[in-house]
Amino acid sequence: MVFRNEFSWSKSRDVIFNECRRKYWFNHYGFWNGWIGSEDDRVKRIYYLKKLASKEVWLGSKVHEVIEFLLRKFLAGEEVSLSHALRILQKRMESDFVMSSLGGYSGFSSKAHRFFEDEYGIAIADAEKKGLFDKAEKCLKNFYNSDIFMEIRRAPIADWISLEEFLSFNFEGVRVYLSIDFAMRTGDKIVLYDWKTGGERKADYKLQLSLYALYVSEKFGIPAEKIMAKMIYLALGESEKVDSFEVDSELLEEMRVYLRDSILRMKKLLKDISDNEAVEDDFEKCEGYWCSRCNFKKVCLSEVKS
Ligand code: SF4
Repeated sequence: MVFRNEFSWSKSRDVIFNECRRKYWFNHYGFWNGWIGSEDDRVKRIYYLKKLASKEVWLGSKVHEVIEFLLRKFLAGEEVSLSHALRILQKRMESDFVMSSLGGYSGFSSKAHRFFEDEYGIAIADAEKKGLFDKAEKCLKNFYNSDIFMEIRRAPIADWISLEEFLSFNFEGVRVYLSIDFAMRTGDKIVLYDWKTGGERKADYKLQLSLYALYVSEKFGIPAEKIMAKMIYLALGESEKVDSFEVDSELLEEMRVYLRDSILRMKKLLKDISDNEAVEDDFEKCEGYWCSRCNFKKVCLSEVKS
């Protein structure tokens, strides 16, 4: 079976495009076929580097995994205690640390983990490692003890709509991908939930929530006013943990305009739009601001050794 690299859109794709065009090329074009043994070594290298995870991104994914585990167990009729959930979190985090430091990661197994920091010789000191574990634990405890988790458990299961699913919809001929942490019906409204593990509130979450709302509005055919979004900041203190957003038709229209513009800017750089063909040199390198935390330094910057 031959896979085609079809053009699609996602928020993370848009973020990378705005950071550095060359990073966007590595991430969405340069890696293609890197899983095939007979491919060029550089392509295999790009594929390998694409899957590295920084400690911050990794922490968020571990907390999300365990929250999903909790909710799936609840869906199956099982209650998981907080202490058990914390043990699972710690075990998974420890195992990833060991896996990453052993360096057995080849890029081919989706379960394998390699820290960006280990790949680039940036030490994660014991105190920092402890800080990561403490923060992940705090996020999970905050979720477990939150009113939101209580709200979800009290709701009839029939009202649950989505749980950490990889979703997509067709926007004017382009497949748009997104992943919603959780969504459920409350009365005649649909409420979208997003768990955040970062240390601060950010204004740009509006784009993400608008995208979720657009998906829900198109999929369920409900008016914007019947959609609500909640951001839960798991790393913050009790009093400042949740932001709620009402959605309206103006917000959805803004999202449509944003999507159209972003897709157009991405397609403009393609050599062949119908074949989604992109040439590396047509994608400029950024001026350095994003390089220090970029996965692709080894294949992009001559001063960084492979
Ligand atoms: S190393 Fe810098 S220029 Fe190269 S892809 Fe990464 S961010 Fe862009």
